[in-house]
Amino acid sequence: AKAGGKACYMVFDQTMHRHALERLQLENDLRRAIDDHQLQVYYQPIIATDTGRITGFEALLRWQHPERGMIPPNYFIPIAEETGLIQVIGQWVLREACQRAKLWQLTFPQSPSLFMSVNLSIHQLTYPNLVEIIADILTETGCDPRYLKLEITESAIAQKAETVIPILEQLTALGIQLCIDDFGTGYSSLSRLYYFPITTLKVDRSFVAAITQSNGTAKIASAIINLAHSLGLEVIAEGVETEQQLAILRSWGCQLAQGYHWAKPENSQDTEALLASSPCW
Ligand code: C2E
Ligand code: CA
Ligand code: CA
Ligand code: CA
Repeated sequence: AKAGGKACYMVFDQTMHRHALERLQLENDLRRAIDDHQLQVYYQPIIATDTGRITGFEALLRWQHPERGMIPPNYFIPIAEETGLIQVIGQWVLREACQRAKLWQLTFPQSPSLFMSVNLSIHQLTYPNLVEIIADILTETGCDPRYLKLEITESAIAQKAETVIPILEQLTALGIQLCIDDFGTGYSSLSRLYYFPITTLKVDRSFVAAITQSNGTAKIASAIINLAHSLGLEVIAEGVETEQQLAILRSWGCQLAQGYHWAKPENSQDTEALLASSPCW
């Protein structure tokens, strides 16, 4: 029995060791990823549900690892956050996305008001010079702050409300729009969010997936959208995959949506081709 126990312990230990090593390796790789141009920003269109037109984009980070291939952001962003690398990576994403927004507004004169939505981790939001850094990026890229949206998850904001509200107010003063991401997955109530200076609510994909079912979730989703509208918030539904989901959202008055029903996130070249060939302009 003793020997078995020991063997077990050794296996466990080796697995832990392997994970730790792999993690360390990825950390080191991530440090080099920016300089080696392995990071890319992909763009997913955000669509007006009534006309099908592209109104803007969400910027989504991608890491093309030289040996491991595409590593999903849900896997490496936590590493970036724990190591502090999220600051330099996040600033790089912001600069890229703002540059691209400006370029597309100029290149496609039908679309001077395309907006760009960028995800912001709570680690970035509480970084000392964030507001200054963003102001500098806007100046550098010539991006009009009105066309920048920053997405912050509901859970991140709710956890650190006292710290975060003054920062959100400064960002609002710059003219930037603020969006609560993944709404419905945390525990905040809309009545609480009312006190945050936000312009936009993004309804989480899990809600959108449930709206065609005749259970309570659909009712909650429609109530959320109604209440958000009556509070003067813009609503974006994420993860729309079917015509049926779209029809329901439209009937509820939800004006903006994104999802595979229209397009997956693509690199800047493919997104430009999409913009150039968009029949709806
Ligand atoms: P998110 O902000 O909730 O982004 C939406 C995710 O849903 C994206 O996954 C997108 O590709 C995916 N998606 C969009 N439409 C559909 C659909 O119709 N069906 C399905 N099944 N999925 C859809 P992605 O690109 O893998 O990103 C995952 C998460 O990683 C993001 O979730 C966000 O939390 C984080 N992330 C991505 N880029 C950044 C970034 O630049 N900074 C930070 N801090 N986080 C980022
Ligand atoms: Ca998002
Ligand atoms: Ca989301
Ligand atoms: Ca999410």
